Amino acid sequence: MSGSMRKSKLGWALVGLALAAAVLAVWLTTHWARSLALDTLRQRSAETLRLTIDNLGVELDRYIFLPRVLSTNPAVLAAVGRRALGAELSRADRELEEVEAVTGAADIFLYDVGGTVIAGRTDDGGPPGIGADLSALPFFHAALEGRLGRFFTAYPDTLDPVYAYAHPVWIDNEVRGVVVVVVNLGELQDRFKLVTAEHEIIVQDRQGIAFLSSRQDWRLRKVLPLSATDREEIAREGRYVGLALQALPIRARQDKLYIVHEDGGEGPAAGEPAYLRLERPLPRADWRVSILVDTAAVGRQVAQAGAISVFAAASLFLLLVALYQRRRRIEERMALQKEATARLEERVRERTSELMLTNRRLLASIAEREKAEGDLRQAQEELIQASKLAALGQMSAGLSHELNQPLAAIRSYADNAGAYLDRDEPGKARKNLTGIGELTERMARIIRNLRTYARNEQTPVRPVLLSEALSGATALLEARIRAVNAEVRIADNAPGVLVMGGDVRLQQVFVNLLANALDAVETQTTRDIDIGIAATDGEDLVITVRDSGPGIDPAQIGSVFDPFYSTKEVGKGMGLGLSITFGIVELFGGRITAANHPDGGALFTIILRRAEAGRSAAE
Ligand code: ADP
Repeated sequence: MSGSMRKSKLGWALVGLALAAAVLAVWLTTHWARSLALDTLRQRSAETLRLTIDNLGVELDRYIFLPRVLSTNPAVLAAVGRRALGAELSRADRELEEVEAVTGAADIFLYDVGGTVIAGRTDDGGPPGIGADLSALPFFHAALEGRLGRFFTAYPDTLDPVYAYAHPVWIDNEVRGVVVVVVNLGELQDRFKLVTAEHEIIVQDRQGIAFLSSRQDWRLRKVLPLSATDREEIAREGRYVGLALQALPIRARQDKLYIVHEDGGEGPAAGEPAYLRLERPLPRADWRVSILVDTAAVGRQVAQAGAISVFAAASLFLLLVALYQRRRRIEERMALQKEATARLEERVRERTSELMLTNRRLLASIAEREKAEGDLRQAQEELIQASKLAALGQMSAGLSHELNQPLAAIRSYADNAGAYLDRDEPGKARKNLTGIGELTERMARIIRNLRTYARNEQTPVRPVLLSEALSGATALLEARIRAVNAEVRIADNAPGVLVMGGDVRLQQVFVNLLANALDAVETQTTRDIDIGIAATDGEDLVITVRDSGPGIDPAQIGSVFDPFYSTKEVGKGMGLGLSITFGIVELFGGRITAANHPDGGALFTIILRRAEAGRSAAE
């Protein structure tokens, strides 16, 4: 939460920074555009100024030789020399008029040394001082002193600027007259603007009067305030006689000029241009030429550059914002994915722990079951042992008879042997002693069988001889078989056959089945018990125990293997024999089933796994 807030704060800071950078970039661009545009303008203006100055120079010099040439003109000389003659004067007048027409000069006058016009047109109202008495003017004096005099002023009615040369007329090394050539520069002003329309040209005289100007309303106005000496000088030179010489409505600020209101208010008037000013002197005439260039174009270029840069900056800014937002979206998506992954992992963890719990429970239950199985096995073994002991108990009557009978026989053999020895018949005595030996052997076998049967067998399943188990069982029950007077027939078709089992337990299986069979046939007239052996195709061996008894109650066939199921009277049967037998056969990996033979009597079928013959032989 705080992390994302920090992030958004950082984002806003970046946006602010980008905005500031954009503003700076726009400002720099406009600044740069302005200085570039101004530079270009300045260069162009300097070129225009140079051209203008060259033009002006050429224009001024165009007539510089004219007064000199005219001063040697015969008509002029004649007019000066013999001024009383009217014919000479009119000739000079015509001559000057002709030259005027040919050269395009405004006016040409011929003066006497006193400053009075001798010849030349005066009727067009030349400026005061020209065409009238010039004796007071410095340029006229220069001519009187033998030099070329220069003068400039303006016609008061048309305000046309004029430029004048005064040249002496020499006769006999004496100045006798003066030729004055007046050039109208008004036309020149109109040519100032030919190069471009965006500039104005001002030619100022030494005192700062806009002597020439491309702008009509600026002509003959003063650029700077006139000092008293300036005014004096102007008056002395006889310039601008009868002109008001108002101030120009412009102000200079650095290299720029502003048009100001005529009422004197500072700064540029609304909608009026600001000018860039360049100035150069025109040394020949002691003038200063200024070019004033309208900077509106610069403003337009700057505005264009500004607009472009604003647009570019805005585009860049929007692009950045878009990129930033895209990044934010990606980050959000990644955060969501991370969250989802975390949730998933959490669920997996939960599931895993559930599974682990289940697994632990399962393991616990397996352990319980194993323990139960162990307990069961233990109980079963104990049961086997108990049933064996019970069987032994049942057999004890027969056994004692079995042992008592040879004991009695041994006793009588011993008595007989003693009597024969007394009678000195050692051969007979020996025969009796041999009988004793045979009988003890028989007793020892019976006891050995009992011991084997009573033993608690713990050994795992291994190959055992089937025939041995069968003969052991019959040997144990020998007394009872004889008592019942039953005929037990055991198939001898499998002398060396080995089955998987334990010798004691397998013997017990047959003891149980034989004991039941003996019980069943006891009350019958035919008392046969048949034990058959048959091999299957596979690894199994089928052993059948059939008796000639009454058979099993068909309704109870399914129950005979249940523990404590017995149809026998109390004291004779516990109902454990078949249950134990079933358990033992299963332990060997075999099966046992109960049925009634179609010809009568019970039929028990045992299927056991066969073992390899070689292994038993090796043991
Ligand atoms: P018990 O012999 O102590 O009764 P068993 O488990 O050996 O216990 O036998 C259970 C019962 O199965 C017997 O009580 C008997 O009813 C029946 N049974 C067993 N073997 C035979 C047989 N050969 N013929 C008839 N019934 C039999």
